[in-house]
Amino acid sequence: MHNNISLMKSIQKPIVIVGAGFAGMTFALNLKNLNPSLPILVVDSKSNFIFKPLMYEVLSKEIRSWEAAPKFADIFSDAGITFLKNCLTKISFKENTLEFSDELKLSYRYLVICTGSLPNSFLAKGVDENCYFFNDFHDLNKLKSFLKKSQKNSIHKKLFIVGGGPSGIELACKIKDIFADQFEINIIEKSNEILNRNKIFNREQAEKALEKRKIKVLLNSTVKEVSENKISISSEVGITSLDKDLVIWTAGVRPNLGYLKTDEITKKFGRILVNNNLRIENYKNCFAIGDISIIEGMEDLPITAQVAMQQGKHLAKNLELLILGNDTLPFEFQDNGEMISLGIGEASISGLGFTLSGKLAFEARRIIYASKLPDIRESLKSAYSWMFQKKSIFKKFLKKNNSN
Ligand SMILES: Cc1cc2nc3c(=O)[nH]c(=O)nc-3n(C[C@H](O)[C@H](O)[C@H](O)COP(=O)(O)OP(=O)(O)OC[C@H]3O[C@@H](n4cnc5c(N)ncnc54)[C@H](O)[C@@H]3O)c2cc1C
Repeated sequence: MHNNISLMKSIQKPIVIVGAGFAGMTFALNLKNLNPSLPILVVDSKSNFIFKPLMYEVLSKEIRSWEAAPKFADIFSDAGITFLKNCLTKISFKENTLEFSDELKLSYRYLVICTGSLPNSFLAKGVDENCYFFNDFHDLNKLKSFLKKSQKNSIHKKLFIVGGGPSGIELACKIKDIFADQFEINIIEKSNEILNRNKIFNREQAEKALEKRKIKVLLNSTVKEVSENKISISSEVGITSLDKDLVIWTAGVRPNLGYLKTDEITKKFGRILVNNNLRIENYKNCFAIGDISIIEGMEDLPITAQVAMQQGKHLAKNLELLILGNDTLPFEFQDNGEMISLGIGEASISGLGFTLSGKLAFEARRIIYASKLPDIRESLKSAYSWMFQKKSIFKKFLKKNNSN
């Protein structure tokens, strides 16, 4: 691996991609397809890609963990791209160099940063110390072992899920289906409705799914503090302190930008501000895509894999245009709809001119994930095979969906 890197350094500075999640991987694989001769180096601090939307199914054992987390080394070697496992610690934009945790220093010709997001505790007291999160496999395994341990003793344990967005709702339904009466689940949401940035159809289906499972929702409520045994919630009636066994925090994310030590780049809402060509202001050869970035004039785009992948694909085209000396094109988001899982074997889908719920939606969801990942599905053979198990049933449905 290091031989490949020194070879690249001696021939031509590479295009370096830091972060190989949905944005970085889509970018790298698309660029390689468009121009196989470009030297591309992908760096990620982890060894495995995490297919985050499938983490609920790993928790419920509907799929095995390796199926949702294929190895980067396999994905990139199949595609003929050099992969390096390392953690970015510093960028010197003026010198075009990167520094990594093992003191490796690299120069780049073009830089694409896409290091995703971390849970955001909004500095609420006691959250970091006393809550569980659900953002990566480390969080997933920690939660799994807590849930497994508590399976052995008592019922009606008090579980609070903070945040009534997709993650909170999907987790609540899965946990209820796995553990039934072992947990009394409460979702705490600060606004006046759950899924307030999602499609109405999905919201209605989610409300039904929560009601069916007797999951309580506390609206207009904000968490003030979480201690070892208590959770303090502020609402119209004042501050209430309740006993808790477990709190899972899914209330929001913040960009993962610990390696940016200075204010040499402009940020908006904490995320890297890019223009509509996805380029970082003042640095012609640097780009930021996925959760860490925000596009000037398109601040309302959701923070999702769908956006990250579309940006990855678009930037690959733009970089190829740039290298050929042509003008680049502005990014445009195409809303391909949204899907949420609602317990074991159930889901809700809205968009692309149709809505679907229940078991059929669950099966369609896994197929749609694969059909919407045309560029990485060959590499993600494991997740792909899981998603396509029942393809024959959905041939007609897919045909209609793909023609939209
Ligand atoms: C549980 C869950 C469910 C979700 N479900 C959906 C869904 O159904 N639909 C949807 O559209 N979106 C969903 N999302 C959101 C979606 O996963 C993110 O928007 C998407 O992953 C963002 O892509 P990204 O490439 O910006 O970041 P990521 O996919 O998070 O990738 C970032 C990569 O950067 C690497 N990295 C971080 N820091 C460094 C560093 N310093 N050096 C080197 N590498 C680094 C990480 O290891 C990681 O591989 C979900 C998220 C979660 C947590």
